[in-house]
Amino acid sequence: MENPHIQPAEQVLKGLRSSEEGLNAEEINLRLSQFGANELKEKKKDSALTLFLGQFKEVMIIILMAAALLSGIMGDMTDAAVILVIVLLNALVGFIQEYRAEKALDALRKMAVMQAHVVRNNQSMMVSSSALVPGDIVLLEAGNGVPADMRLISAHNLRIDESSLTGESVAVDKHCETLNNPELPPADRINMAFKGTLVTHGRATAVVTATGMQTELGKIAGMLQEKGSMTPLQVRMAHFGKKLSYIILIICAILFASGVIRGENPYTLLLLSVSLAVAAIPEALPALITIALSRGASRLVKQKALVRKLPAVETLGSVTFICSDKTGTLTQNQMRVVDRWNASSDSLPSETPEMQSPPVLLLGMALNHDVKLNEDGRPFGESTELAMVESVIDELGLEEYYSIMSRYPRMAELPFDSDRKCMTTVHQFGGKLLVLTKGAAESIADALSGSDSAQILRDKAEQRASDGKRVLAFAYKVLDELPEPFDYKNIEHHLQLAGLVSLIDPPRPEAAEAIAECKAAGIKPVMITGDHPATAKAIAREIGILQPDDLCLTGAELLQLSDEAFRNQVLHTAVYARVSPDQKLRIVRMLQSKGHFIAMTGDGVNDAPSLKAANIGVAMGINGTDVSKEASDLVLLDDNFATIVKAVKEGRRIFDNIRKFVKYIMTCNGAEIWTIFLAPILGMPIPLLPIHILWINLVTDGLPALALAGEKSEADIMQRPPRSKDESLFSDGVGYHIVWVGVLMAGVTLAMQAWSMHHELEHWQTMVFTVLSLSQLGHVLAVRSDRTFLYRQGFLSNHPLLFSVLITFLLQLCVIYLPAMNSIFKTQPLTLNELLLCIAAAIVVFHAVECEKWIKNSLRNAKIKPL
Ligand code: ATP
Repeated sequence: MENPHIQPAEQVLKGLRSSEEGLNAEEINLRLSQFGANELKEKKKDSALTLFLGQFKEVMIIILMAAALLSGIMGDMTDAAVILVIVLLNALVGFIQEYRAEKALDALRKMAVMQAHVVRNNQSMMVSSSALVPGDIVLLEAGNGVPADMRLISAHNLRIDESSLTGESVAVDKHCETLNNPELPPADRINMAFKGTLVTHGRATAVVTATGMQTELGKIAGMLQEKGSMTPLQVRMAHFGKKLSYIILIICAILFASGVIRGENPYTLLLLSVSLAVAAIPEALPALITIALSRGASRLVKQKALVRKLPAVETLGSVTFICSDKTGTLTQNQMRVVDRWNASSDSLPSETPEMQSPPVLLLGMALNHDVKLNEDGRPFGESTELAMVESVIDELGLEEYYSIMSRYPRMAELPFDSDRKCMTTVHQFGGKLLVLTKGAAESIADALSGSDSAQILRDKAEQRASDGKRVLAFAYKVLDELPEPFDYKNIEHHLQLAGLVSLIDPPRPEAAEAIAECKAAGIKPVMITGDHPATAKAIAREIGILQPDDLCLTGAELLQLSDEAFRNQVLHTAVYARVSPDQKLRIVRMLQSKGHFIAMTGDGVNDAPSLKAANIGVAMGINGTDVSKEASDLVLLDDNFATIVKAVKEGRRIFDNIRKFVKYIMTCNGAEIWTIFLAPILGMPIPLLPIHILWINLVTDGLPALALAGEKSEADIMQRPPRSKDESLFSDGVGYHIVWVGVLMAGVTLAMQAWSMHHELEHWQTMVFTVLSLSQLGHVLAVRSDRTFLYRQGFLSNHPLLFSVLITFLLQLCVIYLPAMNSIFKTQPLTLNELLLCIAAAIVVFHAVECEKWIKNSLRNAKIKPL
């Protein structure tokens, strides 16, 4: 629709053939087929073919193919053909890895679809935002993302953050008055809401005017396409890979030059050096890391944690503090009213002489809330309010509840916000206005007219809260007319106390165990809540967050504390109560300044800054606002604290496994280099042909390494302290392992070469080739765990790995025993004894790595830091 901002809302509705009752199903289907889904088209991705061809862009691969062709022309054509086939297969493996990584990332992106609250066929319902069509009526409220472009029909205190569209970070006030300049830029069309922006305040009803690529965001979508960015680990790996490539190239150049000096065939030498470079440069690592991370992310979704930013998967394992909300995350969010205290048994003055109004506390519970009823009369809404409405319905019956609602219609409201910690509704009351305010006991106490009743309220609330109950107080006043301007400063004062209601919200049954697991893993769980300190402490004690030595700070105390004083207390504080969302930011920053790595939960609009500042921002999937989800790295699909702990565990496992396959691949590559490089120095001929090296690289690197990524978590994974976020992949002895095991493998291989040449065995080369291949398999079996011996861990516990080891072994047998392969690989069949000898050599490598575990475990037990 053209320029809806210069038309009155009724005219826009008419133009779109819609009404405030919404569209019907038939019309929606029709429009959906006409306008398409409300989605932004993604920029065309690289096709599978481009991705495949991209594998050949590597300079080394091109040189290798050229060298193969050249040596083919000069001599053996089959040799050249085999090398080309192996390179092709290598590219295929690389392509499959990259393709799978892309697909897994796509699947993750698709999961984060938003929901929209709409009115259709005169009923309000939630639909996926991609199902919106022009003419749909959408209800917006604070916390929502705007799902399409829309013209406002009505708006209350509406403020929208349009920074994603205009770059302007201050939220814009929105109204529904008609504007008159058709040329206004989107930023000035204040009666419109645009797709991709966020509602930070108030509420509104609006009619969709454009969807998908027709929206303002769609028009500039080309500029907004997200680039697939690398995770910090990948950046570090890419950096390291580059440096390593130079070292490998220098080694290969030395190999080539010294061979030429010795008078060997330059073509074969060139082929050999380039093959070695191709095999030894770990070009597959970034793709393998992406696969490990995105696979980890899909496993996390099954455990109800949706990863929004992939780097979070690799850093989850470094979390040292988990700062969590109480309500719904540590507790079940199933509130139940357990007692009620009326400040005065007097009812309000009757609004009409013949009508007696119910006690004012009951009236407050029935009227002051945002609970709605669905078609079958069942209430739905925020859990505290829901519990109160349910208790009113239980007591009075549904009919009487409806009757109260219609007798005292709502004239105005000041919505709840977690800074004020209260909300107010104003109702028609005969010829007057009844103001009802409910909220935290302290907020209500501050707004009462008498100091006595304030003290009574505080005492009563404290008593109930220390049993772990959630307490809400109610107050009221009667006015002749609404003050101008209508805001909380003019309304929420000089109130009369109506009474209080206490509710219980039991802790989640799994919370205590998750807290204990956190503590064992060196992670400190902290509760940050808007609730009363006594309630917070009682619950924190019950689930084990608050121990005798721990501190509890309230928002008011925090306000008084200087940075210096707070710095001294922050590590000992386990509970923060009555804090406002902006104080959460101070807590995150202070913990970070102490070198800690923080996961922080949040659900409201005001939590967005602290979610962004935290190292891992965690939003709530069920009760969280779109704004908080947008700011987060991780979304809990079940709003459950225990899920964060599971995610941390998964993060640690993924990092461990990445480290395992890096260790494996680099050790194998090192062994190849050492073997080829050391043989001439030890006075022996170069033991392997280029195709042997390429073969080892193809079969041993790819499959088993990928299978290592699926390794189960180590038994003690949640008993170790968190890994530092800057810890290198090569720390904890990994760097030494790569060097010494590489040298060992080369040593075993060269010893076999010396021995078999000494005994003048004709097929010494086949033996050398087999020893190097098989010892890599021995290595992969041992490297599966950093600490546990294979016999304890279970030989069969990683099926894909076992399968890939068996396949590789069988393929190696084919290369040794099939006559066709013999001529291609220049191999000869080995006798059974010779084969057994090769297997024995591989077993030596396996046992050496198992011994390394034994030594490291003994040092750990003796509390000596291993190298
Ligand atoms: P958490 O931060 O752990 O989720 P919370 O739900 O208590 O805890 P807030 O939502 O910030 O945190 O609420 C703070 C306080 O405001 C509550 O303890 C309660 O006293 C009051 N309150 C909560 N919801 C409402 C509401 N709908 N109307 C009025 N007051 C409310």
